[in-house]
Parts: sequence; C-alpha cells; structure tokens
Amino acid sequence: MAPQKIEKYFCTICWRPCHTNIKQSSYCSVHNQLADDGKEYKRRYRLLSNIALDEKQDSSPKDVIPRLVAKHSPHEKLMKNVVSNANIETGAEWENRVETIIELCAQDLKDTAASAKGIECSSYNSFNSWISAVIRSLDNEDPNSSADSFNTLAERMAPPETTSFLIHLLTRYEIEAKIRVLGRRRRGPPIGSTLSQIDIYGELLTALKNRETSGITVNLSEIARKYGISRQAVSKKWRKVIESPKDYRKAYREYKKTTK
Ligand SMILES: [Zn+2]
Repeated sequence: MAPQKIEKYFCTICWRPCHTNIKQSSYCSVHNQLADDGKEYKRRYRLLSNIALDEKQDSSPKDVIPRLVAKHSPHEKLMKNVVSNANIETGAEWENRVETIIELCAQDLKDTAASAKGIECSSYNSFNSWISAVIRSLDNEDPNSSADSFNTLAERMAPPETTSFLIHLLTRYEIEAKIRVLGRRRRGPPIGSTLSQIDIYGELLTALKNRETSGITVNLSEIARKYGISRQAVSKKWRKVIESPKDYRKAYREYKKTTK
C-alpha cells in the first residue's frame, strides 16, 4: 500500500483520522473549519506555516506533514517485513500482527510504539477495535470522534490497508513532538536550516562561552573557513548570537533535542 493512498484517510494537518461526520472532509474533528469557528484549524495552520517558511520559501503548510512523514516513517521498511510475514495478513491471529508491528516500530517510533504497547490486546476482540483504542488513548482533544471516524473509515479498508494505516498513524503521532518544537516562532537559529548552519550556531555559542569564561578571542574567519562560508555571513550570525545569547542557547539545545 503506497503511503500516499493511506494519507487520504488522515487529517491534512495532523495525525488524526478524517472526520467522517462531514462529507469528504480532509480534516479531523478538531481541525475541520466548522468546529469552533475554525479556531483550532487556524492555530494549527499557523504552526505549520512557521515550519514551511523556515524550510523553503515556496512550500505550502500542507506539505509539512507528508515531508516529515517521508523523512521519519519506517513505512516502506516495515511494510516489506509485514507483508513477507504471511501470518500477519490473514487477520486470524491479529494479536500476533499487533505484536509484530509494535516490535518493528519500536526502533523508529519509540514513544508512540511504547504507548500503543500499553493497550492490551486481550481487552479487545479485533484488530480494528484495538486500533480504535490506541487512537482513543493518544488523542487528548477529541478521542471519541477520532475513534468513531476510524471505525467508519476502517469499513472501507482491506486488512493490508489497516496495517498500513496503523503504521502511518503511529508515524504521524511520533512526529507531533517535532512539529511542536519546529513550529514555535521565536528568536534563534532559523529552524529547518541545514545541519551545517545549525552547527555554525553551535560553534559560535561555544566561542562565546570560551570568551566569557577564559577570555579566548573569537576567530570568526576561522569559523568561516571551517564551514566554507563568507566571513560576512559568519559575522551576521555572530551579531545575532551576541544580541540574545540566551535565546540562541535555548533554541540550539531544543533543536539538538529534536534531531537526536
Ligand atoms: Zn487534524
């Protein structure tokens, strides 16, 4: 099952299933534009716009999630394993299917896989009712609608599709933490900068610290040479760093955390 086919079941701007009470909605119950005057939709859209702006001038906020999913999803790798495991697609031994999926996801989707693992299969009578319980447990905003929407959508899915849906759901949920950090507007290194740019900020922060603690002179030319950029470009960054070192330190730490 190609990931783009599965994406149609998901809210365009988050991890929840599309709201099925509204005809052909591309959004979940929280983000559809009719809910609460579209307040949550606007808030979420702003968050994704911040990321899109930082990433590329011309990218759309709606491309942010597919791009992050493509980067972090173990989908392709997993689907190969899942499909090659005949047992998993028969639907008869669905508890084994859950166990295998969780095991395969544990490495790439650590936190979400751990949460899903906490939902005991023995309390449910089918793969779909278990997925529904997972959705309910992950959703802090509108668990009932999200679970109901999944139940309705699941009626249209064949078993391989449900497996694919689950992996996609876990991936989308896992990248939520990244989205929250990346989308926060604040002063600091431009988020989404290439890694080497982030490293330059790291280097400048270290240089600043060394100057403060040991009086070591900061050599901007040397940093420019090391990263193959102009001295002007480095001193522009340097000026920003010394203007608000606290913000930059915090942003740098947060960025490093998300890229771990
Ligand atoms: Zn949504």
